[in-house]
Amino acid sequence: MEWRGYTGKIINVNLDKNKINLSKQNYNDIKKFGGGLGINIKLAADLFEPNIDPLSQKNYIIVGAGPLVGTITPGSSRTVGTSKFPATGAFAYSCGSMSFGFNLKLAGYDNIIISGKAEKPIYLLIWDDHIEICDASTIWGKNIIKTHDILSKKYESCGTIAIGQAGENLVYHSLALIDRVSTFGRGGLGAIMGSKNLKAIVAKGTNSISIAHPKEFTKIYNRLFDRIKNYPHKESWHSLGMLRSLPIGMLFKAAGQKQKAKQCSERVYLNQLKRRRIACPSCPMGDKDILNLEQSDSTNLIHYATSIINPFLMFTDLNGLNYNHEAILAHDMCNKYGLDYMMVAALLDYCTKLFKNGILTKENSGIEWNTDITTLVHIIELITYKTDFGEILSEGINKLIEFYKGTSEKLPNVKGLDVIFDPRLLHLGTMEFEQIVNPKGSHVASGGSPTYIGTGSSIEKFKSHFNRMGIPSFAFENIFTPPLPEMVINVGCLTRYAEDWYTILTSLGLCARAQINRFYGLESVTKLYNAITGFNTTSEDLRIAAERTWNLLKLMNMKENFSRKDDIFPKAWFNPLKFGNKYFKLLDFFGKTIITPEIANKLLDDYYDERGWDKITGNPTKAKINELELNSFI
Ligand code: SF4
Repeated sequence: MEWRGYTGKIINVNLDKNKINLSKQNYNDIKKFGGGLGINIKLAADLFEPNIDPLSQKNYIIVGAGPLVGTITPGSSRTVGTSKFPATGAFAYSCGSMSFGFNLKLAGYDNIIISGKAEKPIYLLIWDDHIEICDASTIWGKNIIKTHDILSKKYESCGTIAIGQAGENLVYHSLALIDRVSTFGRGGLGAIMGSKNLKAIVAKGTNSISIAHPKEFTKIYNRLFDRIKNYPHKESWHSLGMLRSLPIGMLFKAAGQKQKAKQCSERVYLNQLKRRRIACPSCPMGDKDILNLEQSDSTNLIHYATSIINPFLMFTDLNGLNYNHEAILAHDMCNKYGLDYMMVAALLDYCTKLFKNGILTKENSGIEWNTDITTLVHIIELITYKTDFGEILSEGINKLIEFYKGTSEKLPNVKGLDVIFDPRLLHLGTMEFEQIVNPKGSHVASGGSPTYIGTGSSIEKFKSHFNRMGIPSFAFENIFTPPLPEMVINVGCLTRYAEDWYTILTSLGLCARAQINRFYGLESVTKLYNAITGFNTTSEDLRIAAERTWNLLKLMNMKENFSRKDDIFPKAWFNPLKFGNKYFKLLDFFGKTIITPEIANKLLDDYYDERGWDKITGNPTKAKINELELNSFI
C-alpha cells in the first residue's frame, strides 16, 4: 500500500549474524496502536520473551518515530525507544527529541529493531537506502560529545543516538543522548546498547515525508503557526527555557537558601551562563540550553543541557557545592560519560546520609566523603568505570539497598528508580502520582495534564483542559470526586487520562512539554493525523489505540511479575522533607490536605478502577483485555 506520514518500513538488524533486512509495517497494527510509542510496544510484544536478562543477547532495542515526525508540524520531534531496562527489570519505553527521529523518517523508516550482540564495537549507519553496520573501534571509549562530533562531522546534518563510557561499561543507570543534548533511556538504555557493542546509531535522511492532503495540512499548520506566533509568553519561554516553568532560584529562596537562590537565579542564568538556545527540528518553542562556563584557567566550557534546571536541581544535599559552576561541571561529566545525572544525584544524597549515620565509612567504602566537587568528580568516575565502591553504585538503588539492608526509606524510589519529582515540594499532581504507577518505575508520562505546571488553576480551566485532552465528559464526575472533598480533584483518576493523552502525543510523534502541547488538543491532532496519513481515524479511535497501548505495556510487565505490590508510595514521602531550613509535607495538588498512607491507597484504588483494572493485583482484568482485543498477549 501507499503510505503517507508513515514510511511503512522497518529496519531489522541482527547483530549476532551481522545481517540487516527490511520488513513492512502492518496496516492493521498501525490502525490499532498508532505509530511511535504504540507500534513500538506492539512490535516488542510480538518479539520479547518474558524474564530475559536485559543485558543479554536476547534483549531487543526498538526505536521508532511517529507519523508526524519528519513533517513541519511544530514539536513533532519524538523518538521512542523500547527495551527491557536493567535498572528495574521492567519492559518499558524512553523518549527523546532533537533530530534523530526526523532523520530516520526522512531516510525512509518508521522503526529499527536491533537484536543480538556484535562481536566487536560497531555503530549503525542509516543514510537513506544505505544501511550499514560500521566499525566503531576508533570511537569506542570516547565520551558522548566527542562521539557525536566525530560522527556528525563525517555524516553532516545527521542525527545521532550515542553512548559514553558508562554505557560501554554496562552501568545500570547509563543512558544515551540524542544529538549530544537530549537524554534518551533513563533506566539503562546506555548499558543495553553497550551490552550489544553498539556505540551509536546514526540517521541521515535526505528525502521527504509524503502528505496525503497537503492543502488541509497547510491550513491546519498555518492556524497553529499563527497561534504560536501570537502566544504572549513566547518571548519569555525563548529567554528562560524550562527555567520559566520551574524557577529554581525562587524555590531555594522560599526554603531560606539565599546563597543557592542567588546562584540559580534568572539573572545569573541570563548574564553568566546562557550562550544560546537550541530547538528540535520544527519546534518554535526551543528549550534546550547551550551554556558557557568560564573556568578558573580562563578557558570556556561549552555545556549542552536538555535544560538548565537539571544541573540546578542536582545535588541539593551537597551543601559544599557551588551551583552556578560546580553543579554544571558535574552535570557535564555525567552527560559526557552517559550517566543518568538524576540517579547519580539521588545515590550521592543517600550516601551522604549513610556517612552521616556512620553506616558508610572511609573503611568500608574506601572514600573520604566530603560534600564537595572533588568527592563528586571522584564518585562519578568510580561509577562510570565500576571501580571499588563505584561497582555497587553502578547497579543503582536496588544494589545499594541490598548491600546496606534496611536503609531504603531515606532514598525515595519506585521499583528501584529514584523519584524525579518529589510531591512534598511540588504537591501531588499527576506527574508526581504517575511515578508510582508507571510500569518502568519512577518515570513520568503525564506531561499534558493541567497539574503539569504550577498550582492554583480554577475548576473551569481544569475542565477546558480536560476537553482539550479529550477526556470523555462522563469521567469528569470521578475526577472531581477525591477521597476527601477539600482535595477537589482525584489525581488517581486523572492520571489515567493524562497517560492516555501522553500516549496519543507520543504515538503521533509530538512533544508533550507544556509549552508546545498547549497548542494541541485531541480534536486538532486527529485532524492533523488524517490530513497527513489520509486515514479516516476518529478521536475516539486514537484514544482507544492509546488505551490499548498502555494496557499491552502493562500486560508485558505482568509477565515480568510486576503487580500492585510494586506500585508503592515511598515511605519517606509520608515524613516531612527538609529543604533548606524549611520542612515540607506531602499535600494534595491544591495544598490543603495531608496525604496519609490511607489516602494514597485510596488514590491507587481509584486509578486502577478508572483504568478498568483489578484493584487487588493492579493489573488489567479479563474484561478489559477482551474489550481491547488483547487476548492473544496473555
Ligand atoms: S519543547 Fe523542547 S523538547 Fe519539545 S520539541 Fe520543542 S525543543 Fe524539542
